[in-house]
Amino acid sequence: MSARVSGPSVRAPVLEVFASIQGEGAFVGEPQVFLRLFGCPLRCRWCDTPGSWKVPAQAEARIAASAGARREPCWASAFQAACWIAECEPGNPRSLSVTGGEPLAWPDFLLALKPLVGGRRLHLETAGAHPRALARVLSVCDHVSLDLKPELDLDEPQELPPVDAELAQPFRALDGSGPERSPRTREEWKRAREACLRLVAARDACAKIVVSGAREARDFAGLLDELEECAPSLTLYLTPATPIHGVRAPARELVENVAEMARDRDLRVRVVPQVHRVLAVP
Ligand code: SF4
Repeated sequence: MSARVSGPSVRAPVLEVFASIQGEGAFVGEPQVFLRLFGCPLRCRWCDTPGSWKVPAQAEARIAASAGARREPCWASAFQAACWIAECEPGNPRSLSVTGGEPLAWPDFLLALKPLVGGRRLHLETAGAHPRALARVLSVCDHVSLDLKPELDLDEPQELPPVDAELAQPFRALDGSGPERSPRTREEWKRAREACLRLVAARDACAKIVVSGAREARDFAGLLDELEECAPSLTLYLTPATPIHGVRAPARELVENVAEMARDRDLRVRVVPQVHRVLAVP
């Protein structure tokens, strides 16, 4: 078996790299450069990037370089990804949003990437389902955006299979105990979310909750309780779901009720629509 690569050579499957405007969370409206990775074991019903779920052995990454978009083999070293990031910025370096998929599937890659992106801030977008991986990469994250998910919006997870001995393995553990599993039961989800919230509670971080028209205000009570208990100083961004891919937008009253429930718990709450949809940017 081949020796595993590490450092700048550690690889992850890149779906796309592009410059755009952040549409959600604490940095909404900020021009950023986005690195989207393949691979997500979760199955959110309102997922707008289901094409990112599977980890391909072979596929192409879309590199929206300033000089013109092109395709490249998706498995990229951290060094290669850092070069693509620089190519996609139209001007001065931007903060880097690493998204997916679930980028925590590739902790070694994130650790290797940070020293290669110069002074760029690294912002991690994660579902907050894998606290072991989050704990490993926190030191290289300048901001963490935790997307909290009501169980009713989730279908059963599909674990990512091993890819290839020479490629990185999703959610690989350092201690040989096997990859980190995704939560399945209500209790496992609660434990995972609470652990992730505690990890970021005193850091540059925020929490996000998507409110879809399929939910009732009481469906969010558990998430709000966990936030109050584990990370009460984080700002909570409520995102009314955009009505695309069969997802229903929430009624105004539902969003207002959830915001009021957050205020009842002394949480700082902001209601912000998906600005990238309004601006029609990727
Ligand atoms: S965690 Fe993100 S990529 Fe994964 S299913 Fe949910 S919304 Fe989609």
